[in-house]
Amino acid sequence: MESEHFKSTELRCHHCDREGVQRELLDVLEALRAKAGPLKVNSAYRCPKHPVEARKPKAGFHAQGLAADLVPLAMPLRAFYDVIRSEPRIKGIGVDHAAGYIHVDVRQAAAPVLWVYRNGRAVVVTDLFQEVAMADQMRFRVTPEQIEAARAKLAKAGFPMSGESGAIEKDGYRIEYTLAEGELILRVEAKPCIVPMWLVMSRIRSALAKEGIAKQT
Ligand SMILES: [Zn+2]
Ligand SMILES: [Zn+2]
Repeated sequence: MESEHFKSTELRCHHCDREGVQRELLDVLEALRAKAGPLKVNSAYRCPKHPVEARKPKAGFHAQGLAADLVPLAMPLRAFYDVIRSEPRIKGIGVDHAAGYIHVDVRQAAAPVLWVYRNGRAVVVTDLFQEVAMADQMRFRVTPEQIEAARAKLAKAGFPMSGESGAIEKDGYRIEYTLAEGELILRVEAKPCIVPMWLVMSRIRSALAKEGIAKQT
């Protein structure tokens, strides 16, 4: 099944290519698309054998073809959330601030159920945007020969880091850095309503990757 703006390739199970999205969900996705502009579908139908569903005690709404995880491409997460709340057919809403997507489902319920994802677990809350700031840390191994080139690449990407430690403060995020004993440690704090955390982190990662510096796991 597909619709004007959503192709069956993005709606079907990514594990086995089976289709299973319900018309009801597709109608809601088109209604959201009309108000929010282009949306990326991270995941829609997932068969009960899909690894994410198989891990659960009981397969969820994705396995019933009633749920989709959506990334807004034309507006911040906060604004997209307001669009979602204006659609009465959506009865399950889960926000993943770190990954920058919102789960929506069209289950049968009197009032919507709201939750956020914390460390991969769903936590039911009443205010999904209460946590304004999120923090994460990245570590990179940097040899003395790589330091200057790494600084240049980071500065070019918009993250000037001088000296051994300091902080970069911008509208929407703050990065604290220390560079000592061959290790660059970055603590990134982002306000997800303004800048998604993954975007800040991926810009830093790709700047350093140009110098062959990879993130440590
Ligand atoms: Zn499957
Ligand atoms: Zn979901």
